[in-house]
Amino acid sequence: MNPPGPPAVGLYPGTFDPVTRGHEDLIARALTIVDTLWVGVAEDTTKEPLFALEERVDMVREVTRKEPRIRVEAFSGLTVEFARRVGARVILRGLRAVSDFELEFQMALMNKHLAPEIEILFMAPDSTYSFLSSSLVREVARLGGDVHAFVSPAVAARLGRRFGEVR
Ligand code: ADP
Repeated sequence: MNPPGPPAVGLYPGTFDPVTRGHEDLIARALTIVDTLWVGVAEDTTKEPLFALEERVDMVREVTRKEPRIRVEAFSGLTVEFARRVGARVILRGLRAVSDFELEFQMALMNKHLAPEIEILFMAPDSTYSFLSSSLVREVARLGGDVHAFVSPAVAARLGRRFGEVR
């Protein structure tokens, strides 16, 4: 057996617009693999986010505040550069369905090209959350539906305020 290596640091990057129970499930299980988990909230995204960057960071901090092994920060630029900056050897992503696969695999290959020393690990969600996405939650909330089963109470309250204002 090899002697134990240095503590493993992982990065879970995403848009988190907003953070859902699916993300929370993935974060909890990532903590069984790495010692320290950075959750990187992406500023540069091709999507037009509903929530501002600071709000997305705040929501992830709210749902992870009890776990001292988690650090939540916004980042811009390349994910692999942020991973290097925080010393992450592994980038974690969720794969919900075949539909996620093609884009995720393309991104993984590009990231491996840019940073061959960083591993990319795909995790399957708990089946309860396999249908869940931030975009679906936003859509249900926009139409006035109850999203408490899918997001934390603090996130549900923010969604209610956001869409209550425009209804
Ligand atoms: P991005 O814009 O980078 O896809 P998201 O916030 O939508 O950001 O998702 C971040 C990561 O979390 C992605 O790898 C995505 O596949 C994963 N993910 C999103 N929802 C779930 C879920 N319900 N279960 C597991 N993984 C999920």
